[in-house]
This record gives sequence, structure tokens and C-alpha cells, in this order.
Amino acid sequence: EALNERLSHLKDIQVSFEFFPPSSESMEQTLWQSIERLQPLKPRFVSVTYGANSGVRDRTHKVIEKIHTETDLVAAPHLTLVDASDEELRALARQYWQQGVRHIVALRGDLPEGQGRPNRFASDLVSLLKQEHDFEISVAAYPEVHPEARNAQADLINLKRKVDAGANRAITQFFFDIEAYLRFRDRCAAANIDVEIVPGILPVTNYRQLLKFSEFAKVHVPNWLHHMFDGLDEDPATRKLVGANVAIEMAKVLAKEGVKEFHFYTLNRAELSYAICHALGVRPTP
Ligand code: FAD
Repeated sequence: EALNERLSHLKDIQVSFEFFPPSSESMEQTLWQSIERLQPLKPRFVSVTYGANSGVRDRTHKVIEKIHTETDLVAAPHLTLVDASDEELRALARQYWQQGVRHIVALRGDLPEGQGRPNRFASDLVSLLKQEHDFEISVAAYPEVHPEARNAQADLINLKRKVDAGANRAITQFFFDIEAYLRFRDRCAAANIDVEIVPGILPVTNYRQLLKFSEFAKVHVPNWLHHMFDGLDEDPATRKLVGANVAIEMAKVLAKEGVKEFHFYTLNRAELSYAICHALGVRPTP
């Protein structure tokens, strides 16, 4: 009965997938296999991250272009404002619009080491993009607070600024503390942030790497997660099964809490994201 009851929450769920530009031929193959595998799930959009040095930027454009011409997916490039002048950003925005891009994930980007306090923020990029064209815009949100924020309230007000500047959706940093996400969603609602706060789901297969990511991003790794992966450092096959179980459980709890949109940090791998989607009732449609 409890399992049947859970099924009723799995209606009309929508998903998006995030990829990064590949840096070798074999990674390129993996990426395209993953896109092919995930495409029949009809994601709302797929996004491609953007690095802070110029070589990586070109790679983002190339992947976006190829998704655009070879699939019927909506391709959304990430765009960051660190390292680029307003003029460069405007030119890029116009170029994207001309190519048919209508959705951008707008970010500040991580600061190059040694750079002092910034004076431009993602909200400025949202305004700039909206001045150029009526893009659909997704922005970042941090249920456990962005590491540089003065405090949680200042960070929330920053998200509100991004939404007031025209952002249509917030995608969260990955998290494992579901309560923290739910509290954050409530605080957004109380602050009249009236866009979806889409949870960013990171399917874990490499726990060691996750610990590094989490430390950098100041994301709390709960004891239960540690317990799940403890002793599996040399056992990737079991790690994968455990990782799938963790992510599916999390996604189902979120669905029960009314979440209808999920964003997956695929790390260019389809397998776990596909399995989680399946469990959420997101299936291939002819
Ligand atoms: P902002 O919203 O500008 O916030 C940055 C910090 O400044 C916050 O602490 C905020 O509270 C503070 N702040 C904002 N306005 C003010 C103000 N007026 N005065 C004082 N403080 C202020 N990085 C990449 O390089 N490439 C990517 O493709 C990429 N994709 C991402 C996708 C998602 C879904 C997420 C969650 C993050 C992504 N990032 C990416 C990482 C992101 O660039 C970093 O987290 C970056 O440090 C902050 O970006 P932001 O857009 O959240 O910045």
C-alpha cells in the first residue's frame, strides 16, 4: 500500500540533464552515447557547462551547436560573467539568439584565484541577457548557502534579485540534506521568490571525488551517506548499485514533497540518471 501510495506522486514529472564539454575523443563518444540514451526521456532542456578559460568556452559552443543541429533537444548553454566584458557577453548573447538558442543558464562563475571581491554578479548577467533578447533563463541557488555569501539571508536576497531581473527558474547546487532543501524552498516562497526551485541531483558513483566536490562547495555530507559508501573504495560495481539506490530514494522523497522538476548533474554518464528517471515514472515516449 505504502508503495502504491507513492506512485501517485509520480505524475507529470519533468527533467533536465546537465553535461560538460568533453576534452578527449573517448569522452566525446561517451557524451554522445549518453545524449542518445537520455533523449527519448524528452527532457525539458539539456544544458552544457561553461569553463573560465577560452579553450573551454569554444567547446561549450560546439556541443550546443551539435545538439541543436543533430537532435530535437532544447540546448541551453551555461554562461558566466567572470573574465568577460559586458560587450563580449552582449555579442555572445546575440550570436546565441541568432543560432536559435532561447534558454541560457546564467551564472557568475567561480573567481580565478587571487582575484579580489567581485563587483558584478549573476543578477547583472540576467539583466544584460534580458536587455538583448527574451531568453528563458535559469540561475543557480544554494540550499546550504553559497560559500562566499555574507549569510543565508543575503544569499536569499541575491536569488530574489536574479528572479526579479528575469530568471525563470532556479537550479540548486547538489545536496544530500533533504531537510535543508525543503527549508530553503519554504524560505524562497516566504520571500516571494515565485519560480521553481529545481533540485540539482548528483548521482554518486565516485564517493572519494564527491567528498572533494562537497568540501569545495560547502555541501554537507550526512553520516548516512558516508555509511552507505564506507568500505566500497575498491568496489565500483557495488558503489554503482548503492549510488542508484541513494539517488532513487532521494528523488522519491522529493517527489512526495511535491517536487515536479528535477535537474541531473549527469557528469556525461546516462546510466544512473536514466535509472532515477525510470523510477520517477519518466519513461521513453514514442
Ligand atoms: P551569484 O548569484 O552572483 O552569487 C555569488 C555570490 O555573491 C553569492 O555568495 C551571493 O550571495 C553573493 N552576492 C550576490 N550579489 C551580491 C552583492 N550585490 N553584494 C555582495 N554579495 C553578493 N560555474 C562555472 O564556471 N561554469 C558553469 O557552467 C557552472 N554551472 C553551474 C550550474 C549550477 C546549477 C550551479 C548551482 C552552479 C554552477 N556553477 C558553474 C558554479 C557557479 O559559477 C559558482 O557557484 C559561483 O561561485 C557562483 O555563481 P552564481 O551564479 O551563483 O553567483
